[in-house]
Amino acid sequence: MKLLTLLVVSIAAIVCRDAAAAESVDTTVLLRPARVFDGTTLHEGWRVLVKGDRIVAAGADVTAPSGAREIDLANQTLLPGLIEGHSHLFLHPYNERSWDDQVLHESLALRTARAVTFARATLVAGFTTVRDLGTEGAGFADVGLKQAIDEGIVPGPRMLVATRAIVATGAYGPKGFEPGVEIPQGAEEASGEEVVRAVRRQIAAGADVIKLYADYRWRPGEEGRATLSASELKAATEAAHDAGRTVAIHASTPEGMRRAIAAGVETIEHGYGGTKEVFAAMKERGVALCPTLAASDAVARYQGWDGREPAPKAVELSRSAFSAARAAKVTICAGGDVGVFAHGDNVRELELMQAAGMPAREVLIAATSLNAKIFRIHDKVGTVQPGLLADLIAVEGNPTQDVRVLRQVRFVMKGGAIIAN
Ligand SMILES: [Zn+2]
Repeated sequence: MKLLTLLVVSIAAIVCRDAAAAESVDTTVLLRPARVFDGTTLHEGWRVLVKGDRIVAAGADVTAPSGAREIDLANQTLLPGLIEGHSHLFLHPYNERSWDDQVLHESLALRTARAVTFARATLVAGFTTVRDLGTEGAGFADVGLKQAIDEGIVPGPRMLVATRAIVATGAYGPKGFEPGVEIPQGAEEASGEEVVRAVRRQIAAGADVIKLYADYRWRPGEEGRATLSASELKAATEAAHDAGRTVAIHASTPEGMRRAIAAGVETIEHGYGGTKEVFAAMKERGVALCPTLAASDAVARYQGWDGREPAPKAVELSRSAFSAARAAKVTICAGGDVGVFAHGDNVRELELMQAAGMPAREVLIAATSLNAKIFRIHDKVGTVQPGLLADLIAVEGNPTQDVRVLRQVRFVMKGGAIIAN
């Protein structure tokens, strides 16, 4: 098994190097799938022409110029590379090692080595972009990983990184040690004016998105409570927006969510405790919800749930919050909190969104064009249209009918480079 893994890894590395080399010449490729989902609509019989790293044409009458390479993707649906809205490439599933142990006992080198393999697994699964919401104690290593991917040193998705993330002083973890002794934490602690300083430090270090925790449990077993104050969140959000960065807020309590909405953030992560009134406010202020259904599902399984209905209370809570948000017409981002569960298994969130009542086509829109819009990268990725980067995947079957076919990835292209075919 280990040998096989090694072999696959070496092949992937070779494929990637070749692809990078191919990208450097200005090749033209005509992709001939059965159909194209362009980020919003399905088109039977469309073809897509790629030149260099860009899409140059898409439509039924697109033909190959002389000298172009043609790739036949019969029976497959071509769609924009999927966008993961909430990942932690520096975490691995908690049933392998607890979060506390990962933060406290895994070296930065070990965590980075894992992250490199997770980045590859994510890309091969068809996720060509990730919004990585905090290294959870691995410092600014996400900035270096992003650079290594961008420079073609290791294969991986495009990354929007949050670096360390920010929590109220004393509010996060790991906890349970001699009081007063400084213990490594899963995010940067700050209070008062330090919060703005932390935002600016993280942006200077490379953060594309600022992640703050609006609530958390002060002790294990306690209910979550609002942590950063309304004014701290507002000041932090203004500092991030001044720098052209978006803001993602971890919040599951109504009060934490209210403060995030009032601060004018772009997304709220989890939102499990959202009420009808809170979701109405999100809709009104244009704040998107990243429901992370797969995280609550995974944690329940680690605690012994066998997956049968009725689901445990926490899972039910995440599902009903998701339904309430949809009923209030809140913009839904697609992001599973991958890292809590296995990297490369990102489709799990999309499957759970569908299982919880969202039509397959809407789930696909969330994971492509809508995520791109919410994360302000829609001028680069998220749709199949001329001028955008050629981040394209093809899957067997029709994912607008059932997102589970997204597991049958047959073709992955990132910036015009073929990663898998
Ligand atoms: Zn997370």
